[in-house]
Amino acid sequence: MSYNITLIPGDGVGPEITEATTRALEATGAAIKWDIRQIGEAALEKYGTPLPLEVLLSINRNKVALKGPVTTPIGTGFRSVNVALRQELDLYACLRPCKTYPGIKSRYENIDIVVVRENTEDLYAGIEFKKGAKDTTELIKFIAEQGQRKISADSGISIKPISERASRRIVTFAFEYARAHGRKKVTCVHKANIMKFSDGLFLATAAKVARNYPDIQFEDAIVDNVCMQLVTKPERYDIIVLPNLYGDIVSELCAGLVGGIGVVPGANIGDKVAVFEPVHGSAPKYAGRNKVNPMAMMLSAAMMLRHIGEEKPAQRLESAIARTISEGKTITYDLKADPNDPSVATTSAVADAVIKKLKEAR
Ligand code: NAP
Repeated sequence: MSYNITLIPGDGVGPEITEATTRALEATGAAIKWDIRQIGEAALEKYGTPLPLEVLLSINRNKVALKGPVTTPIGTGFRSVNVALRQELDLYACLRPCKTYPGIKSRYENIDIVVVRENTEDLYAGIEFKKGAKDTTELIKFIAEQGQRKISADSGISIKPISERASRRIVTFAFEYARAHGRKKVTCVHKANIMKFSDGLFLATAAKVARNYPDIQFEDAIVDNVCMQLVTKPERYDIIVLPNLYGDIVSELCAGLVGGIGVVPGANIGDKVAVFEPVHGSAPKYAGRNKVNPMAMMLSAAMMLRHIGEEKPAQRLESAIARTISEGKTITYDLKADPNDPSVATTSAVADAVIKKLKEAR
C-alpha cells in the first residue's frame, strides 16, 4: 500500500535529519509519497505567515505528517509554530517514549518510560498580557477587584488554563495507551498542592478517569518530587501523564536519562491527524554541519510507520537503529563518551549505516 504523507523538513538541523530519515524510510520498503511543506521563518518570507493554511490543509488531507524541528524567535517575533500547529490541528496528546537502547552510555540501563503530555492548554495556551499594555492594566485591576493578591503594575502575565475536558481526554489517552501496550502503571504528575484550581482539576479528573481502568495501577505525584525521583529511581515509573509545561520539561529530563535528545522520538496525536517529530529543537548552531544525530527523527518515523499500520517496516527501522547504536562504530558525537572522539560519525554516515543494516536484513 502507498501512503501520502505531509513532510515538513523544518529549519536549523531539520533539513539534514529529514534527508537522513527519508532515505532510511525508503530503505524500509514503505511506499510513501511526500507532500513537502514549509512552516516557520521560511514560510513567513514566502507566504507572509509562519503557518500557511496550505500546510494545515495538507496535514488534514493526508492525516499524517513527519516534521523536523522549527526555530521560534525568543522573546519577540512570531509565536511558536510548533505550538500553533498542535493547537490548530487539536493534536492533544504528545507521546514521548524514552527508552535505553543497549550500547548507549547513560546512568541507567533498561529505562522504558512513556511521557504523555497534554498538548493544547496550560501556560502554552499562548494567552499573554504584555507589561504596561492597556489590557494588562485592566486585568490587574479586575484581579484586585476580585479580592485576589495585588499584582505589581509592571508585570507581564501568562494565563494557565486547564480544563476538565482536556484533562479527561489526555488521561484517557494515557490509560488506553497503557492497555494497548501492556503497561502496568500511570502516574499523574502535577503541582495541585499550590495550583488548586488548575492542576487540582487535572488531578481530580485523572483520579476519576482512573476508576475506569482497575486493571492499571494509578498514582499521583508532585512534579518537583518526580524530577528528583526520576534521577534517583527511574525504575519507579512506567507511563507519566502531565499538563503541557511539566510535560515539556520532564520529557527532556527523561531524554537525559536515556542518552540525550538525539535518541528520543515524539508524536503529536489528535482524533483525526497525527504529526511525528523528534523531541529536540532546531539546534541552530549545528545547522548545515552534518553533525547531529538523526536517530530521534528516524525513531519518530518508526512511530509514524506503526501509526499507519506498517508494523514490519517500523520494526526493521528501529532494529537497524538499535544495532547501529550497539555496534558503536557509526554514531554521532552525542552518543560518544567523548564528543570530540575523532571517530564520531556524521549525520549522513549514520543514515548510511542504518540503511546498510536495513538492506542486510532484507
Ligand atoms: P535544541 O535545538 O533541542 O538544542 C539543544 C541542545 O540539544 C543542542 O545544543 C545539542 O546539545 C542537543 N541536540 C539537539 N538536537 C540534537 C541532535 N539531533 N543530536 C544531538 N544533539 C542534539 O534546543 P534549543 O537550543 O533550546 O532550541 C533551538 C530552537 O529549536 C529554538 O528556536 C526552539 O524554540 C526550537 N524548538 C523547536 C522544537 C520543535 O520544532 N518541535 C522543539 C524544541 C525547540 P549540545 O550543545 O550538547 O551538542
